[in-house]
Amino acid sequence: MSDQSAVSKNNLASAAPPFIPPTWEGVEGGAEAQTANKDQRLLTVFEIVKILATEQSLETMLPKFLACLIETLEAADAGSLWLYDSADGRLVAKGAQGYDFAVLKQLRLAPGEAMSGKVFQTGQAELYPTPEATAAAMANMTPANGDIFRAATTGLKHPLSAICVPLIKGQTKVGVLALLNLRQPASFTHDDVAFLQRVADLITVAIENARLREELEAAKTLTEANRLKAELISTLAHEMRTPLTSIKGYSTALLMEEVTFDPETHREFLQIIDEECDVLQELIRDLLESSIIDAGLLRLEPQPVRLPRLAKGVVDDIANRNQKYRFLIDFSRDFPIVDADPNRIEQVFRNLLDNAVKYSPQEGLVVVRGEVREDDVLISVADQGVGIAPEHLNRLFERFFRVRSGLGRHVVGSGLGLPIARTIVEAHGGRIWAESKVGQGSTFYFTLPLRGLNQRPSEGGAE
Ligand code: ADP
Repeated sequence: MSDQSAVSKNNLASAAPPFIPPTWEGVEGGAEAQTANKDQRLLTVFEIVKILATEQSLETMLPKFLACLIETLEAADAGSLWLYDSADGRLVAKGAQGYDFAVLKQLRLAPGEAMSGKVFQTGQAELYPTPEATAAAMANMTPANGDIFRAATTGLKHPLSAICVPLIKGQTKVGVLALLNLRQPASFTHDDVAFLQRVADLITVAIENARLREELEAAKTLTEANRLKAELISTLAHEMRTPLTSIKGYSTALLMEEVTFDPETHREFLQIIDEECDVLQELIRDLLESSIIDAGLLRLEPQPVRLPRLAKGVVDDIANRNQKYRFLIDFSRDFPIVDADPNRIEQVFRNLLDNAVKYSPQEGLVVVRGEVREDDVLISVADQGVGIAPEHLNRLFERFFRVRSGLGRHVVGSGLGLPIARTIVEAHGGRIWAESKVGQGSTFYFTLPLRGLNQRPSEGGAE
């Protein structure tokens, strides 16, 4: 920094800048100053390359580039980095130093508007050597943008000089980098413009790389989702055929006029048909639910709910259909009434309990437990089933994800039950997760917040 300035880089917002007429041509100084300048630039490039090599995401990378430039370039006191958002045709701040970034982020600059907009539009770097030049460049801001800009620059002095360089690759304009000097006019030089343009080119490469990486990740996720979807269609066709084959077989048998079944066999066949219809119904319900959630149509209708009673209703229903399993419901007597959508939470219980039965050998014990904690209630559904390998545990809540059952028999399913349960629980402000040991069983937990809820005890625990 030149001795002419009484203001240090650290107290820019509070100190009044001395007005010194623009004499920027002379600032580069003698041989000593030039060597210092070279060292500084070397350091800048070194630091930029370091960020480039270590940072992966644009969100963290861009503010770091800016911070590095302001740290290493003596003339730079504040600055902003803007990227062009092609969706709305505006420049958006992605990094800022010396501004209130949270406010500046709200600005949407049109190409041609203000300093950054102009440089973006022309694709040419600009040096604004005087306060008058910077003021003139900012003059065409729309009044609304002017208000936001002023709010973002509260306490910041008007820039005495500025450099603005485009982030541009070939014909593609990516954004703009603007650096401000707040202490003395003309501290930026034409030489700085050329140097900063080269730094901006480096930054542009980094932005392009990060974007490519992000696009690749998105494409990968999409491909994976598409693969799973295609797999689901073939799985579902298969899954539906299995119960349908049973239904068709047993009903055809029952309709045969030449055979008379004894009442017990007759009943047994009807029971199988009934169970297989349930399986089909579950598959169709999951599919419908999933498409409703996909379309963003999940609406909660919360009301005071007695979870012990709700859990018991579902357990009774499932126990009726699976008489060889044992069920235990354990809720404390003073379990609070919670605000929730009873139909949706019933669905969560049903999905978890259906799974507890589906993925357990017959005669397993299933325990539904409710605990009251400080801010929420914790519900668990524990089984003594096949368990889930650690590498599958955190994928269970992904759509269409299924693990081969390990039960030695095929288990019909869509891979949608748990993702649906998760969407419902999270829509209530809760969390859902699983713990498990292969061969020993699994416990699924979910929480529902007590925030603002009526905490009267429900009558008689697990009534
Ligand atoms: P579905 O049961 O229809 O396949 P879910 O989304 O409900 O779909 O479950 C996804 C996968 O998680 C299941 O295919 C199964 O492999 C595993 N899983 C879920 N619950 C359990 C459980 N209680 N015990 C063991 N595995 C389970």
